[in-house]
Amino acid sequence: MSIQSFHPPVRTLMGPGPSDISPRVLEAMSRPTIGHLDPVFVDMMDEVKELLRYAFQTRNDLTMPVSAPGSAGMETCFVNLVQPGDTVIVCQNGVFGGRMKENVERCGGTAVMVHDDWGAAVDPNKVEEALKANPDARVLAFVHAETSTGAISDAQTLSALAHQHDCVVIIDTVTSLAGSPLMVDEWELDAVYSGSQKCLSCTPGLSPVTFSQRALDIVTSRKHPVQSWFMDLNLVLGYWGGGGKRAYHHTAPVNALYGLHEALVMLQEEGIENSWARHRKNHEALRTGFEAMGLSFLVPEDQRLPQLNAISVPDGVDEAAVRNILLNEYNLDIGAGLGPLAGKIWRFGMMGFGSNQTNVLFCLGALDAVLSSMKAPITSGVAVDAARVFYSAD
Ligand SMILES: *Cc1c(COP(=O)(O)O)cnc(C)c1O
Repeated sequence: MSIQSFHPPVRTLMGPGPSDISPRVLEAMSRPTIGHLDPVFVDMMDEVKELLRYAFQTRNDLTMPVSAPGSAGMETCFVNLVQPGDTVIVCQNGVFGGRMKENVERCGGTAVMVHDDWGAAVDPNKVEEALKANPDARVLAFVHAETSTGAISDAQTLSALAHQHDCVVIIDTVTSLAGSPLMVDEWELDAVYSGSQKCLSCTPGLSPVTFSQRALDIVTSRKHPVQSWFMDLNLVLGYWGGGGKRAYHHTAPVNALYGLHEALVMLQEEGIENSWARHRKNHEALRTGFEAMGLSFLVPEDQRLPQLNAISVPDGVDEAAVRNILLNEYNLDIGAGLGPLAGKIWRFGMMGFGSNQTNVLFCLGALDAVLSSMKAPITSGVAVDAARVFYSAD
């Protein structure tokens, strides 16, 4: 055996996540490991919870990172709120609504699906019809920012509709947290999950969640025990909950949480509104360059997610070949289309630390050069300048 230490290449991550990570976060993660019940660590966990309340714009007591990726945050919401026999209205306009349906069914519930096109926002009119047609439903589930298509939905309107019909809301904010306005308390969102590796720019593997009192009341008054031991909030709360009497549940991923703490400190330093504005501005610069090149967006302008740009592949272009050249020659990682959009779009992520002018100009220059060399039907040599003019006018 002569396997050596692993040294990954240095890439620019402009796909659907993970996103580029600040050296500050990586450095924080290399600090000494201490015990997860050490009082010093417990104090840091309390700071993480407080910083997450800021990121989510909530005062919810139950706000914490699940020790597993975004998919586990999703599952935490469903296994705690859905009991056998429950009817749940699930909106699907991309990949992740489909996973919500799977979750409902594995909890023994029935999912009533509300479908919208991949690339469109969730239509509140269809949701209202489904709520009226299913008066026994107690949960409405939808994705705020659909990373598979680059569409953002109106969470405030959907949440108000759900409450009018006596439903709680489960919402996926994996790609919206810190990238787009998200007001958990003001919009009365009940069970909210996110991920560490998108606009928070931390390493993958942690899932911040927050639960309203209304959601928590359902969890604590369940008739059936939660099917998952690991995700049962009644047990997790003894560990992450306040009050000083912390009981062992599982070993927290100590160093990963140092990273999340640092990422959240960076967000607090920048200010959440400034973070939202930065994501929008860099999206607009990228868009100016794409449009100068003659490329077009999948999603209508008023439903576009700034941090995930889905671009139609020009006619006759081998989309996988373009991605391979970008990766191998530019160390630039972008995303492909999924499901019905496979082969039809590229996905350019502009998330967290990676949402910056350098990445915008680098990406436009690289794509321009690669498409031009393939004789693709674009306007060559103008994209970078267009974006630079955009920045200098700002
Ligand atoms: C990335 C993502 C997830 C899943 O997160 P993982 O950390 O990969 O498990 C869920 N929902 C959305 C919208 C995402 O973008």
